[in-house]
Amino acid sequence: MEEKILSTKIRVYSYNELTDTRKKLVELAREATRRAYAPFSKFNVGAALLLGNGEIVTGSNQENVAFPSGTCAERTTVFYASSRYPGVPFEKLAIAAWHDGDFVETPTAPCGACRQAILEYETLGGKPIEIILCGRNEVYVVEDGIKALLPLCFDKF
Ligand SMILES: [Zn+2]
Repeated sequence: MEEKILSTKIRVYSYNELTDTRKKLVELAREATRRAYAPFSKFNVGAALLLGNGEIVTGSNQENVAFPSGTCAERTTVFYASSRYPGVPFEKLAIAAWHDGDFVETPTAPCGACRQAILEYETLGGKPIEIILCGRNEVYVVEDGIKALLPLCFDKF
């Protein structure tokens, strides 16, 4: 019998410790939470994506009265980015959430479906997409990309 241990390296920063690029993405993701349409969950999520051509695309969750018809902020963002700039690799993705009158304390991570969607573009781009998860006071940075948040991922067949 062999045992395999899967691990994920997450660097935890305060906002002031972040590089200027990461700070900008955090701010844009936080700003994008204000454009969420989340009347049902009242959980506003925003995302900001830096592309290899220097463009930054933002998005927010868009809910629907028929729940499965809505889309998370992360998928809104990566689908729009790929539609607008097909073939341009993704560099860094910041995610923030607002609930109950403030940004959430614990950094919000993408759901499983979004991790799978992000993985598609990470595979296409051929390098890790840095994931930046914003909490009220702490920011988690996953430099190893979405695969680090989706162990044993399904990425080819
Ligand atoms: Zn999601």
